[in-house]
Amino acid sequence: LTLSVAAILAEGATRHPELTAITMNGSSTSYRELWEQTKAYAGALQERGISEGDRVAVLIPNVTDFARVYYAILSLGATVVPIHALLKAREISYVLEDAEVKLLICAAPLLAEGAGGAKNSSVPLLTVMNPEAQADNRLEDLAASATPITTYLPRHPEDIATILYTSGTTGKPKGALGTHLALLEQTHTNLLSTMEIRRGDKLFGGLPLFHTFGQTCVLNTGLRAGAEVVLLPKFSAESALELVLEADIDVFFGVPTMYVALLEAGAQREGKPTKLRYAISGGASLPLSVLTAFEERFGSRIYEGYGLTETSPVACFNHVGREPRPGTVGTPVWGVEVEIADPAYPQEIRLLPRGELGELVVRGHNLFSGYLNREEATAEAVVDGWFRTGDLGTKDEEDYLRILDRTKDMILRNGYNVYPREIEEVLTSHPDVSNAAVYGVPDEKHGQEIVASVTLKAGSTLSVDELSDWAKEQMAAYKYPRHIQIVQEFPLGPSGKVLKRELVAQFDRE
Ligand code: ATP
Repeated sequence: LTLSVAAILAEGATRHPELTAITMNGSSTSYRELWEQTKAYAGALQERGISEGDRVAVLIPNVTDFARVYYAILSLGATVVPIHALLKAREISYVLEDAEVKLLICAAPLLAEGAGGAKNSSVPLLTVMNPEAQADNRLEDLAASATPITTYLPRHPEDIATILYTSGTTGKPKGALGTHLALLEQTHTNLLSTMEIRRGDKLFGGLPLFHTFGQTCVLNTGLRAGAEVVLLPKFSAESALELVLEADIDVFFGVPTMYVALLEAGAQREGKPTKLRYAISGGASLPLSVLTAFEERFGSRIYEGYGLTETSPVACFNHVGREPRPGTVGTPVWGVEVEIADPAYPQEIRLLPRGELGELVVRGHNLFSGYLNREEATAEAVVDGWFRTGDLGTKDEEDYLRILDRTKDMILRNGYNVYPREIEEVLTSHPDVSNAAVYGVPDEKHGQEIVASVTLKAGSTLSVDELSDWAKEQMAAYKYPRHIQIVQEFPLGPSGKVLKRELVAQFDRE
């Protein structure tokens, strides 16, 4: 059996060459053009010595070149190592060295840190979008004079297509090895059963492409469907809203912080209808209040799913077309098992009966094949073929899963287990609160203390005391937040998630 993720683009160019594959800042690239340019980039990379099995790092924001470079590397049978666009030179070096990459391809806007990282690690650098660079350093110029490849090199299913570094919300980044099979299966599952994406659909492309959610669910699934990915090079609520309202987006993809931001921006432009057919959320739990407000304002449903980089990413989903069940992350996707295991037995999988709370474990075609250079971490994470997610939840009689929290985020106060997500859900139901993040900080008397950072809706004058009094009335004494901070914004990770680790550190400093 041979296959390749690069076939997604190659086949799209054969089947519907004239359709638009990608639009960015109003300029469109057809499937045929994108594949021709990709083959030229691949020819240039080949002349630079890149071949089968090599690893090439990519530091490019959400621009058309991301797709050209991504599929060019894959076409050569090499592995793509996308780097988070917000990393600093030191962190970039860490990835370049950990993955032993042969080349870094960096876009001009990210060159300040990218060039530093490449230099520290003595990794050769090519640039894109950089008119100032020397011609022999510009991939576009090299591609103009190189002989394009004729087609992609087929791979074996278990060959590695991508190495995605987990963003390190919970520790040092680890490189998750994504196989061609896992990525293709996931793309097909999204397309055929979970997401209902149609040929010609305009997809919102504001999720970072270096992250699994944007890369698999938007880019690969979108191009497999013959859809048009409308890229947003830098996410801001206003520009996202602009695309939704003016570029006639059919399907929106986002993490919850994006929905919160979009709602705030949307409040300023009340009334304008959209063409949105539906929206998809994942990556963190979507507060019910946000779901309801979004449906009211934009007239479109949000379907929530759950997954991780290690599960390529979707493990379960409120399948589009079925009645969504808010508060759940849906049912396991096609060919994937999601069960609840007893977290008290880390070295074996003891499945718990339905309804009981435990750790979500996942098995199926979507699993990564391990962490690069980390046998021990891989052995801890994959037990008897099941991937231990580190998330706590339940599964009901009808297979719907609910996520309670991450095991690592659970707060232990006075011997009581406190689940931040539950408290966040209560706080965001307050009419003045736009978003909330709850976390534990070390406390001598109680072991840990419960802290909430909240952002308020525009124009609100709610005080900390008022919110504290209100919170006390809503929740049992062992779990209402003892400290509340009103903040302007949250520290966000590269994929748009709230960085709780950073909030804990900030609290310590104060
Ligand atoms: P790290 O793995 O280092 O924490 P990360 O957060 O970037 O970094 P991802 O693979 O992007 O890693 O995120 C996976 C995590 O996101 C899951 O383990 C889970 O905690 C959370 N998550 C994803 N979808 C949902 C959801 N719908 N509801 C609640 N949590 C979710």
